[in-house]
Amino acid sequence: MNLQDILLEVKGLKKYFPVKGGIFQRTVAHVHAVDDISFYIRDGETLGLVGESGCGKTTVGRCVLLLIKPTAGEIKYLGQDLCKLSERKLRRFRTETAMIFQDPYSSLNPRMTVADAVGEPLEVHGIAKGLEKERKVKELLVEVGLSPYQVYKYPHEFSGGERQRICIARALAVRPKFIVADEPVAALDVSVRAGILNLMKELQRRFKLTYLFISHDLSVIRHMCDRVMVMYLGKLVEVSEANELFSNPYHPYTEALISSVPIPDPTVHRKRIILPGSVPTPINPPPNCRFSPRCVYATEKCSKMEPSLIEVKNGHFVACHHYI
Ligand code: SF4
Repeated sequence: MNLQDILLEVKGLKKYFPVKGGIFQRTVAHVHAVDDISFYIRDGETLGLVGESGCGKTTVGRCVLLLIKPTAGEIKYLGQDLCKLSERKLRRFRTETAMIFQDPYSSLNPRMTVADAVGEPLEVHGIAKGLEKERKVKELLVEVGLSPYQVYKYPHEFSGGERQRICIARALAVRPKFIVADEPVAALDVSVRAGILNLMKELQRRFKLTYLFISHDLSVIRHMCDRVMVMYLGKLVEVSEANELFSNPYHPYTEALISSVPIPDPTVHRKRIILPGSVPTPINPPPNCRFSPRCVYATEKCSKMEPSLIEVKNGHFVACHHYI
């Protein structure tokens, strides 16, 4: 791996949220949303982050953009530690990064026209105002497949897919290098999902974007990503190139996730793996291997010793005693 290719590097990231209780609202416990994970993102790639709801995916996305402050760990963007940046450099980082949210309905202010919503980051970062801002907003609308004549419409006048295009235009306004896309098609009709995903790929090619692509949907991840990280209860359990992960999953949790993806061929049958039990609470996660209460391969070692993420093949990492 060439170090110059790395855009973002995360080491030992932790994010715990306090749980308040009692009449004095004291901290009585912590939700271990993200618990000591490390990874990197290469310049120009799409890195997928997949796992069930509540596993900590969104928290990772918000931490790497410093939208929330990590409890511990180091996040380096182009070799610079984000937690140690000066105000001026932090403002610059904000212009090079953006986030696309899951719900295009709640992420747009219903009282703002498209011109105001897409133009806001241009004005906040001092990129353009007045007529220049309007011209840039129209250009952005064309880039995401909308008409420049829609610039004075309000969000309620658009369909879900069009609203997500407006959100993408807003994210692109500052000409970012790195975008965190958090379930960008999960709230959309199946019929418009492909259009948004293909638009994101096309924009990546044109503007050399790097994506951290968060989703619970493995078929979307397979379509979009170069590499994939699988997350379970705040921990990374498997990291690999996308093709390798889908054809050769190692971790029992990844196996179960992949077995649940429908195959678009009625003549092909795959045995679906149904995991016993439900995801334990992240307030008090199981000790050592967090997947052990649901794993059919679990042994005594799994609840006594935490498995580390080890490279089992070139670029394929897994955290499981079954393979090491
Ligand atoms: Fe299962 Fe043990 Fe591997 Fe955890 S470490 S996934 S319990 S075999």
